[in-house]
Amino acid sequence: MSDTKVYLLDGGTLVIDGYHVFWNRGPAGEIRFPVYSILVEHKDGRFLIDTGFDYDHVMKVLAFEKPIQSKDQTIPGALALLGLEPKDIDVVVNSHFHFDHCGGNKYFPHAKKICHKSEVPQACNPEPFEHLGYSDLSFSAEAAEARGATAQLLPGTTRANSTFEGIEGDVDLAKGVKLIFTPGHSVGHYSLMVDFPSRKPILFTIDAAYTQKSLETLCQASFHIDPVAGVRSMRHVRKLAEDHGAELMFSHDMENFKTYKTGTQFYS
Ligand SMILES: [Zn+2]
Repeated sequence: MSDTKVYLLDGGTLVIDGYHVFWNRGPAGEIRFPVYSILVEHKDGRFLIDTGFDYDHVMKVLAFEKPIQSKDQTIPGALALLGLEPKDIDVVVNSHFHFDHCGGNKYFPHAKKICHKSEVPQACNPEPFEHLGYSDLSFSAEAAEARGATAQLLPGTTRANSTFEGIEGDVDLAKGVKLIFTPGHSVGHYSLMVDFPSRKPILFTIDAAYTQKSLETLCQASFHIDPVAGVRSMRHVRKLAEDHGAELMFSHDMENFKTYKTGTQFYS
């Protein structure tokens, strides 16, 4: 692997109400939005940031989100399109542990795992209003045990192979691959910025801003733990993008997602 390449792994779509996408602003009505994971191929290894949702979990626990996911949109399926298998991923990073960002973690028992140091404790003991967000606990034996949900674990998932390295603040995963601490949506939320030798950087807001309109209007999703921190994080993301001349990519913005490169296409 030489120059950095970034692939977006299309993970299918979900539905929530407009008042959840745009907190206290709306308008109401079903919004179908994309879910995707980010694969960074770097000379230091393959980094996978987030792992999408698990269709069966959503149907069981949040069927009202009306999941649509083809075989190619599962994590193993999306990797297979690139000629890869889960074992080819060296490091899995979770921006946070909402179910639509960690549903495929279970396929990576061998990989090194990284998240903010507060996210696993939060998944073990979420606030009452966070229970559905942190409902897929298959990513961590510790969290599943804490919540009495060990039935969610794939056979073979143990504490030893689902342990995370906890980080805090901004952290360089590798040269030019930076995690930006953007709390508010969740207690330990991370956004991601990737530098390239010959194109402008890409700043993935992840859930600090679901959509372009969210960032422009500083209107966060209704799912959050600290809305004041959430606004601060959005301002921080806007400033970073400006300072670095970065292209912004949003986590759950259908209109913009249609213009993003997916499948075998990549950014480099
Ligand atoms: Zn989230």
